Amino acid sequence: MTRTTPPRPVDVTAIFPELAPFARTAYRLHPRNGAPTAHDSSVGGPLLWPAEEPWPSCAGPHEWDKPKPVRGDHAESLEGVRTTRRLLREEASRPGPRAERLRPEEREALRQANARVPWPANPVPMLPVAQLWARDVPLPGLFAGTDVLQVLWCPFDHDEDGKPYPRVTLRRRTAADVTDVLAEPPRPASVQYSGYVPEPCLLAPERVTEYPNLMELALLEPGLAEEIEGESRWEAAGVRLDALVAEHPDLDPDDAERYEDLYRCALSLAPGWKAGGWSTWGRTDPVDRPCPACGTPAEPLLTLASTEAYGDSGTWIPYEDRDLVRWGHGDVESGNQAALTLGDCDTLQLHACPADPAHPFVDLVQ
Ligand SMILES: [Zn+2]
Ligand SMILES: [Zn+2]
Repeated sequence: MTRTTPPRPVDVTAIFPELAPFARTAYRLHPRNGAPTAHDSSVGGPLLWPAEEPWPSCAGPHEWDKPKPVRGDHAESLEGVRTTRRLLREEASRPGPRAERLRPEEREALRQANARVPWPANPVPMLPVAQLWARDVPLPGLFAGTDVLQVLWCPFDHDEDGKPYPRVTLRRRTAADVTDVLAEPPRPASVQYSGYVPEPCLLAPERVTEYPNLMELALLEPGLAEEIEGESRWEAAGVRLDALVAEHPDLDPDDAERYEDLYRCALSLAPGWKAGGWSTWGRTDPVDRPCPACGTPAEPLLTLASTEAYGDSGTWIPYEDRDLVRWGHGDVESGNQAALTLGDCDTLQLHACPADPAHPFVDLVQ
């Protein structure tokens, strides 16, 4: 499986050579539904976990630990989430009017699968979210001398930073040390939202180059950010927005209304799941991300995304996916095959300390 991002519509460093020192490597992961094993890089797949090592679990605090918890049945059964997705895929794949595509007993199974269940008890076994092998995503900062990076989370809301999302834990390990793989890891019986359950996906990591978000660049190099927002350098280089839109049918006119839109949508940050690269901003202005242990500014490690596309901009859609009707979120048939939905189509970007990867990571929701 290969995914190839088309070249950017404009070579931005040819117009702004001062931007070149800000180039950073990122790997777009391109999660696509499949049947990963513990020996694959994956999203939502089994992890290479030593049989003798305890599986991580979360002791809370959760909603049900609060003095006045929201009462009633609010969790979703993990099995129900899987059943719902399977039945909806089957419904989508059958011909005929939608109301007649499922048999009555399947409709009843769908209703039962969708029923909410009571809050579980602590501790909650964590759910595998992603596993990256160094051979597939050769960014040394990810692995710190090991060759497998694993991400798990507690699929219930934790609002440490005032914004609820799952609690993440990372593991790094050397594959050769794992002789006996845990065959049946514990699974949580339920989750807060179905969007917290990633569908099993294989990855097609692809190396791309990113440049900082304009708001971050304005902090790093204010004069350069202003020039990119202006028109004169672009015009002097012969870049005309209407001509670009005419030349690139995938470039949505809204994404090329101003030069700064073009930079934001098509020239700076890649959308979707990725490793490395630059921080995503937009929900908030940039904030410092110091390492909690030593204060060194933390850098993006891994981005967990609710969508593989920004708005309608199609320039990031790989050649191999051009036949997809449309990219969206929350739809296993479209760009978001990992089926992850965080908040309002947010990303969760894990940042690591470049001075010592063993230091605690910093998370950023945007
Ligand atoms: Zn938890
Ligand atoms: Zn540190």
